[in-house]
Formats: sequence, structure tokens, C-alpha cells
Amino acid sequence: MFEYTEKIREIVKRLLQDRVVDGVIGFRKGTVPMMNHPFFMKHIEQVPQLYWDSWCGVNLANYLPKRQDKVAVVAKGCDSRSIVVLIAENQITRDQLYIIGIPCKGMLDRRKIYDTVRTRGRDITDVMERDGLIVVTGKDFSLGLDRNQYLQENCAICLHRNPVIYDELVGEMVPEQEIDRYEDIRAIESMSSEKRWEYFSKLTEPCIRCYACRNACPFCYCPQCFVDESKPQWVGKTIDPTDTLTFHLLRAFHLAGRCTDCGSCERACPVGIRVRMFTKKLEKDVKELYGYEAGVQLGERPPLDTYRPEDPQDFIK
Ligand code: SF4
Ligand code: SF4
Ligand code: SF4
Repeated sequence: MFEYTEKIREIVKRLLQDRVVDGVIGFRKGTVPMMNHPFFMKHIEQVPQLYWDSWCGVNLANYLPKRQDKVAVVAKGCDSRSIVVLIAENQITRDQLYIIGIPCKGMLDRRKIYDTVRTRGRDITDVMERDGLIVVTGKDFSLGLDRNQYLQENCAICLHRNPVIYDELVGEMVPEQEIDRYEDIRAIESMSSEKRWEYFSKLTEPCIRCYACRNACPFCYCPQCFVDESKPQWVGKTIDPTDTLTFHLLRAFHLAGRCTDCGSCERACPVGIRVRMFTKKLEKDVKELYGYEAGVQLGERPPLDTYRPEDPQDFIK
């Protein structure tokens, strides 16, 4: 996806020259391979620093809540759906945004690449993409890997790779995938309640309560998160399994009907916990119960703030 870089620079240069926006939120190349980072810029001289490739996985919608200025934001499919949700939640208005849409081919998982290369006892110095191949180089080697085998887990099952709203696209729309998103969730649903408890307890066992997953999420924008509150204290602050699981369960419920499965939480987790297993289950429930997918339609109200007489209500019987 490196080919998008020049187009992004061209668009941003024009927007700043014509004073269409006050600033821009995009990416610049990271100082270590496969770790590009968000880049906030206001000046034309900074345009050459803008960058794009398959390691721009951070969801830039995370930097939009409560902004007062007008910004251009580079948005993949999931970022654009997150923007739609934030507009519905009155965190930003459409008029404040110039959306530079990225038809997304999926972000790559640096951990999988490290695992492949390190098992051969090698350190990586550079990674490039070429014709569907990832070319990994180190001191004494160069290795070609098939891109499709190294997609982030959420990207491999993404159904909305193209931006749902945008002002300008950086390339042709990509074909959308038709794929079963919920195979793993169905496997968990089929477990007994004891096994499910065991599964989620084990899943969260390595959690160190660093909150990187929360901080990377565009929908965790509460001025005071329930885990930081001390009067009253809703949940213990330790890494005792009960406290940890309570944090994850409550966070997941706060994201019901809102999560766009952008994968930012999982990418941010320093110990590699699959936190999306919580949010994906609720995503599936909301889809099945209300026929709703978060952020797909601008202007559509989310099911949890809408009342329809025909809504399922078995749970209150
Ligand atoms: S979730 Fe979809 S839109 Fe988002 S980075 Fe992955 S493939 Fe792209
Ligand atoms: S919970 Fe994770 S996958 Fe869902 S929107 Fe937040 S960061 Fe993205
Ligand atoms: S990022 Fe990982 S370790 Fe940190 S709180 Fe979230 S799940 Fe736990």
C-alpha cells in the first residue's frame, strides 16, 4: 500500500495551501520496522514526512473526540466507521472533518512476522512490500513472505475495507470480502458455562492492567474511566483475576454496538491478549438481535439508544 503515500501527500499539500483545514492527522514512518506512528501536522514543510504502508494500523479516529478545529484525517474502512460512530455520539461533526479515504487491503501483523523470522534466530532491520510479497531484511539475510499469510486477525475477516464516508479517496475501491466472521465466537458459544468461564479467565490471565487497549480505542473517551474512579470504586485496581476479568467484561459492555473491530486494542496490548474475543461476541449479538453494524451508515442511530416496539425483549420476561 506504499503507493498511497504520494497521493496522501498531494492531497494534504493542497488542503493546507488552500487553508481548507487547520491541521492533519496521518502517519509517519516509525523509527523501528513495522511501527509507523500517528502524525499531527499543520505546516506544508512537514508534508514529505507523511507516510503510508501496511503498518498504519492505529485507528486515527481515536484523536477526534471533543476536537474544536477542522482537521483532515487519513481513514481506512474501520477508521471511517469509527468516525461515523463518533459523529452519532456527538464527539465531532462531519463539517469539522476532511476525510482522506484509504481503500484498505488489510494491515499486517508485525508479531507474526517477528515470530517467523526469530524462530530462525534472526533480527529484522527493514521490511518492505513488493507485489504482494513482504520482503524482510536483516544483517545477513533477505526473506520474501506471502502478504496474505500475515494479515492482522481482524483484517483477515474484515467486511468493510473501503471507507464508508470520505471526501476524497487515495485509490480505487478494493473488492470487499465475503467471509464468516464469527467461527471462533461460535466455538466459544458452544462451550458449557464452566468452560467459557475457564476460557475467558485464561485469556485474561497475563493482563497487567496497563490499559493500553483502552487508550487505543476511539470509543474509550469518557473523561473519567470507571476503572480510574475511586469514589465510588467500581472495580478493584489489582491484577487479581476477579478485578481483571471485571475490567474486561465491563469495558466490553461499554463497547456493545459501538466497536468497529479495528483491532487497535489488540495491537496495543504488550502481552498479546486477544481482547477482541469480548467485543466480537457483543458485535455478533447486536448484529443478530438488531441487524445493526456499528458505523456502516451515517445518520443511523445505534440500537442501544433507539426504542422500537418490535425490539427483542425476551430477556425481561
Ligand atoms: S479492519 Fe478492515 S479497514 Fe480496518 S485495517 Fe483491517 S482490513 Fe483495513
Ligand atoms: S474495542 Fe478494540 S477493536 Fe473495538 S473499536 Fe475499540 S480498539 Fe477497535
Ligand atoms: S493492553 Fe493488554 S495487558 Fe494492558 S490492560 Fe489491555 S489486555 Fe491488559
